[in-house]
Amino acid sequence: MITTIAQYFIEGRDLTFNNTLFKSSTRNLTKAGFTVEHTTGWLGPLNSLFKSGDLKKITHSHPNRDLLFKELTKDPIGHLIAQPSLIESLFYDDDMSFLCENGTKMFIPTGEVAENSLRDKFAAVGIPVRANYSSEEAGLIAAECKDCPENFHVAQSNVIVEVDNRDSVVVDGNRLGRVLVTHLHSYATPFIRYDIGDFATLSETCECGHDGQALSNICGRKNGLLSTQTGVFPGLDSACDESWKLSNVTNIALGKPH
Ligand SMILES: [Zn+2]
Repeated sequence: MITTIAQYFIEGRDLTFNNTLFKSSTRNLTKAGFTVEHTTGWLGPLNSLFKSGDLKKITHSHPNRDLLFKELTKDPIGHLIAQPSLIESLFYDDDMSFLCENGTKMFIPTGEVAENSLRDKFAAVGIPVRANYSSEEAGLIAAECKDCPENFHVAQSNVIVEVDNRDSVVVDGNRLGRVLVTHLHSYATPFIRYDIGDFATLSETCECGHDGQALSNICGRKNGLLSTQTGVFPGLDSACDESWKLSNVTNIALGKPH
């Protein structure tokens, strides 16, 4: 948590905003199709050190739109953390002004890529979109640049990121290699050069002027989409479109050595 906060300070994110977090569920929930949990302060044990907003966790299956909107009017939304497909379905009429009027300060997409069409809708009401690139075991790997969308500043206090270009591929004129992550704080279980299953381009600086590594052109890899000796990745373009996503790593293993 503390390394995540450190990166948020670097990125200039405001910890005092509430977090409104959506989690999907396959279970049948209440008649309203969602449940709500409130937590005072979203920094856990660090709440005594830093002032933070509150956490509202909304677990949903098939939420009733009117009741959900009523719930969202009760507190300032702050950071809206949700799957882009959920937001698309809630705002099928393209009018995102409700979010603006109810205190949404930032949209943090999870689980899926936020397509440009959705980003444009947020831009129209002045709400920035800033994705986190993370995994369950390593936590925050990189945070989206506020000036250069889809470029991610590496969380260097938390991880070392390398890109293995031995099996690199070229997509849309950009050379992408495998993303290898070393977690700096996993003492019990080594998490070294873990192949996270994504491809990306790694730069030593960001175009915004940030003097630190940045990842761009991040593409998720579908299961079964395997490299060959010739470096041919059938269907990688469509894989990028359909399954580019923030990874949730579920297995720990040692990554390939260089
Ligand atoms: Zn940047």
